[in-house]
Amino acid sequence: MAKTKPTLHLSTLELHRHLMATKPPAMSFRGRTKKHVAAWQRKLRGKLKMMLGWDNLPRGKDRCPLKVRSLWKRQTKLGTIEKIVFTAEPKSDVPGYICLPAKGKPPYNWFICVQGHSTGVHNSIAVDFKTNTRRIKVEGEQDFAIGCMERGIAALCIEQRAFGERWLNYPKYPKLTGSCSGAATHALQLGRTLIGERVFDVDRGIDLLATRKDVRMNTLGLMGLSGGGTITTFASALLSRLKMSMPAGYFCTFKDSIMAMPHCGCNYVPGLLTVAEMADVLGLFAPKPVVVVTGKDDPIFPIRGVRSEFRRLQGIYKAAGAPDNCKLVVGDGEHQFFAEQGWKAMFKVGGL
Ligand SMILES: [Zn+2]
Repeated sequence: MAKTKPTLHLSTLELHRHLMATKPPAMSFRGRTKKHVAAWQRKLRGKLKMMLGWDNLPRGKDRCPLKVRSLWKRQTKLGTIEKIVFTAEPKSDVPGYICLPAKGKPPYNWFICVQGHSTGVHNSIAVDFKTNTRRIKVEGEQDFAIGCMERGIAALCIEQRAFGERWLNYPKYPKLTGSCSGAATHALQLGRTLIGERVFDVDRGIDLLATRKDVRMNTLGLMGLSGGGTITTFASALLSRLKMSMPAGYFCTFKDSIMAMPHCGCNYVPGLLTVAEMADVLGLFAPKPVVVVTGKDDPIFPIRGVRSEFRRLQGIYKAAGAPDNCKLVVGDGEHQFFAEQGWKAMFKVGGL
């Protein structure tokens, strides 16, 4: 008997690619009118909240007092910077900075700024990690609060869970992705996701801003690069108090980015790609102003996927009656923020 070599499919990657190619997300936007958008957003937002583990995070009156504590305050050429810490939920404190611009008068336009995989929130104000006193050069234009203050915008910079000062010491986990990947896996076992928890911290940051008299709540924005772009995207989808959004180095298709190459475990939401692609998630922000920032040579969020997915986002904004409220900024570079181009577009689209 002649022996035939059987065709074996041994790679799980091959299977997952097959599933992505043959099973499109079930709740992707397919409508044409404002009414379609509103009904679809209600449905998908509810589903997304469930998938992010929102039900297992404190809600409404179950939220604990913020207990805002001031650690230090200093005057700089660009404005006042105050280091604070607030409590998001019991056993979870959030360090951050409140930055008030010298340029302009209260009430200010505000942006909440979140860093991605980096040494943390200190990059937002361009000082060293340990003492916060020495000025540092920040790679990839991630000194977000400096960029805000230069433009007369106030900033609340928060340390994301499992990054920077909230980095976990799991001795057995590999460096860099150890902290957040470990935290992300543990969150799953508790019916949460690290993305959901990080969005929750942004929501608590908004709670904090809502107590201040120098905040224009009707122009409140959120921005971040990479892992900060992730949270900017998901928080924009969920939190109605956000009015402007500027995700950078993240928007693409899931298929061409986090599903095409190894990314940190903190990027994933169980089941998400069976219901929605990235434009659907960010489309939950329509018709509010959004500026998507990307680098034309970003190797981990490839431009081809960015452009095709942005066309889908434009379709949602068009159906929502606001085609001009979403802009794509393509910078000449890789995985970084492009402050000048990004802010120029944001001022125009957001009417700042
Ligand atoms: Zn991570």
